[in-house]
Amino acid sequence: MTNAQIPGWKQELIDGYKSFRAGQYKEEKDLFERLGTHGQNPKVMLIACADSRADPGDIFDAHPGELFVVRNVANLVPPKDETAGYHGTSAALEFAVTGLEVEAIVVMGHESCGGIKACLAGAGDTQDSYVGKWISILNDARDKIVSTTSEDGRNLQMEYEGVRQSLRNLMSFPCVRERVEAGTLSLMGAYFSIIRGVLMFADEAGTFHEVPAE
Ligand SMILES: [Zn+2]
Repeated sequence: MTNAQIPGWKQELIDGYKSFRAGQYKEEKDLFERLGTHGQNPKVMLIACADSRADPGDIFDAHPGELFVVRNVANLVPPKDETAGYHGTSAALEFAVTGLEVEAIVVMGHESCGGIKACLAGAGDTQDSYVGKWISILNDARDKIVSTTSEDGRNLQMEYEGVRQSLRNLMSFPCVRERVEAGTLSLMGAYFSIIRGVLMFADEAGTFHEVPAE
């Protein structure tokens, strides 16, 4: 098989891997070995969107072992749900909190989120797809934003509100609530502007503020 027969996407993966091996892996070989042998001990769980433009590893310049990351559509935490189902985000959450005993959970939203756009377009009402059902987590939050925000600002306000709703949903898990109340676990909202490369953190009241970049 010649290189010409390798599809572009596969070649990009191979090139990226070679670059990783010659760069980051070479520099951090000992760290990889140590983490692989003795296990991980990340302090922070990060819940982010699956969107290819807002990668927590890039934004926080994270090294292996530093961030326990879950990415899903629109960086959502569902409320605790006792019904049968494959609760991937809840399983990761449970493991991060009770197994890894992370010190903080950060929910990070981002600009131009397709999941949030789908939410505002009513995907959560019809629930005729996996995305629709998933995004219906935000139906109440959406109703509030639509009734209080002009059309221009709705995407941004909904992206913020999605983070706040996920923070509220986190508290519906007893393992989270107990630790937050005991002061051993912190929750925080964050937001990333793709266009400007700007990161924001939410304060206790849920208002987002730019984090100094220098
Ligand atoms: Zn998104």
